Amino acid sequence: MDSHPVSAGLDIDRVRRDFPALGLEVHGHPLVYLDNAATTQKPEAVIEAISHYYRFDNANVHRGAHALSDRATTAFEQSREAVAAFLNSPHSRQIIWVRGVTEGVNLVAHSWGRSNLEEGDRVLLPYLEHHSDIVPWQMVCAATGATVEPIPILDSGDIDLDALDGMLDERVKLVALNHVSNAIGTVNPVRDIIRRAHAVGAKVLVDGAQAVAHWPVDVQALDCDFYTFSGHKLFGPTGIGVLWGREELLDAMPPFLGGGEMIERVSFEGTTFNSLPFKFEAGTPNIAGVIGLGAAVRYVNGLDRAGAAVHEASLLEYTLELAADIPGLTRVGAPLESVGIFSFLLEGCHPSDLGMLLDQQGIAVRTGHHCTQPLMDRYGVPGTARASYTIYNTRDDVDALFEGCLLYT
Ligand code: PMP
Repeated sequence: MDSHPVSAGLDIDRVRRDFPALGLEVHGHPLVYLDNAATTQKPEAVIEAISHYYRFDNANVHRGAHALSDRATTAFEQSREAVAAFLNSPHSRQIIWVRGVTEGVNLVAHSWGRSNLEEGDRVLLPYLEHHSDIVPWQMVCAATGATVEPIPILDSGDIDLDALDGMLDERVKLVALNHVSNAIGTVNPVRDIIRRAHAVGAKVLVDGAQAVAHWPVDVQALDCDFYTFSGHKLFGPTGIGVLWGREELLDAMPPFLGGGEMIERVSFEGTTFNSLPFKFEAGTPNIAGVIGLGAAVRYVNGLDRAGAAVHEASLLEYTLELAADIPGLTRVGAPLESVGIFSFLLEGCHPSDLGMLLDQQGIAVRTGHHCTQPLMDRYGVPGTARASYTIYNTRDDVDALFEGCLLYT
């Protein structure tokens, strides 16, 4: 098949050249990287930004009265501005650096949750959720007396909106959900769900881990209360992510972690806290990570994003076409709208065996429960094999996946 497509204004060959890892060989085969929902590869621009910081600007931020610290602080805060613009945040002080979605959700759960939830309150989460959006709420609900309740999904993998309507009442204080399911690709109608949740006075936290790499996200247009994403799924480094929140909510929330940087004045009689965003950024931050994430955001801004979305949609369409001809292959979930995530089972081949066998051909997929055990239980499967596409994948990659599967049918 054609391996050199130009989808609208997206020149895939050029994009591929930006990512050094795509030239690797694995077990004697050219790497076919189809595990982008777990983490994306990194473009040269991101690798270079991190290396530049350590080579030329390495110093702590917001502290030192010297040139290197000034340069590091400037680069660090420029990344915050870049992320604020990327999410269309009203202000950059609403951008809180966290390690990733996991920490973003924990921050909201332990800070907002512990001070706003009480006995009888309800937290609603769809069956689609990643463990990182379930477990923190279970922990905080156990401590506050609130309850966590799953929102049913249809067999297609779409949220059952009628069921949601039946569950919403004034005791629901929070609906937390992913923008896109990492396990089966469902694009959730978050704008609509936010409207329904707000009608009963509930807040909404959106986990954007699988969304931000696929299309521009506008937190004001969504009208969400919190939005969080991880840098490493957006071509940025691991260990850095973002929590965005409405300013009045963040202002009213107590700090999550205590320590340096997050204070205004400390004494043994009492401590006052710094203003946003620093109130939530205790200790020396992941400076290289923040700078690398800024570079990733600038890299993405330089792409034809509409072209990228068309390209990814065409890869999924092609996948579904080829999958129909593979004996014994079953897709898990068939959402109304999906990003380029294809979860499947192959009769007679356990997903983890399939993963190992594909790896022998240089093909990287994810297998297992994808940190979504309640969703796997909902489908009655222990796990799946998952191929997940992004801007640099090609039809050749899809061909390789199914040629690989055919070897084992
Ligand atoms: N939510 C979703 C939808 C995810 O895909 C992931 C990562 N697989 C997470 C949360 C957790 O992200 P992280 O491990 O970067 O904190």
